[in-house]
Amino acid sequence: MPASLGPGPWAVIASAAAMTAIVGVRYLVTSGLFAWITGRVRPGIYMGLNRQIRREIGWSLLSAAIYGIPAGLAAWGWQEHGWTRIYTDAREYPLWWMPASLLACLFLHDTWFYWTHRWMHLPRPFRIAHAVHHASRPPTAWAAMSFHPVEAITGAVVIPALVFVVPVHVGVLGLVLTIMTVMGVTNHMGWEIFPRRLVHSRIGHWLITASHHHRHHESYRCNYGLYFRFWDHLCGTDRGLSSP
Ligand SMILES: [Zn+2]
Ligand SMILES: [Zn+2]
Repeated sequence: MPASLGPGPWAVIASAAAMTAIVGVRYLVTSGLFAWITGRVRPGIYMGLNRQIRREIGWSLLSAAIYGIPAGLAAWGWQEHGWTRIYTDAREYPLWWMPASLLACLFLHDTWFYWTHRWMHLPRPFRIAHAVHHASRPPTAWAAMSFHPVEAITGAVVIPALVFVVPVHVGVLGLVLTIMTVMGVTNHMGWEIFPRRLVHSRIGHWLITASHHHRHHESYRCNYGLYFRFWDHLCGTDRGLSSP
């Protein structure tokens, strides 16, 4: 170990490397699972997309490495110094805070995503940061993390920053990460996995699933949200659903 690097820096590097591995494996397992399901229920829709899929996997694994750095820093700060507001004793806050904090995390993530995403649709930021994501035409289950490194940085910092601000039970944090992962994959899968009755219901009017995000990949200048249609409705950028 070089003299200038004490155990502290090595612990941070080890934490970032572990997080990179976790995010990378999580991506491969989740995208692999939904790509396999796609092959069963919509055989042939990824036909002729092998080159695109290889690119999607390459960009996604690079994104996993980028996501691992702030996640590793936050995990290290939590474990070594108790810096974050992650808590493990469910009685530390009232029980109602669990669903409330889940919604708060998703809404704040959605808000950050909506505005950074709109910004990345300006001509210059689009060319630099977002064209990679839209090179998937049509996107597949492997496109969930297919981002240019600049876009990956904007996505990677959100949850690690939120855990310093919002008190969140470790189980709720796990649920936030699960929802983020599953929705990221299913929204790009090229077909709607949720029942029509939900997607076209009054609740569906406020939720983003593949039918909504697929439209963004078709038309570019609408449907910018991540989980909720709140900002799209408020800002007049919601153009309704596609039928992937
Ligand atoms: Zn997308
Ligand atoms: Zn976009």
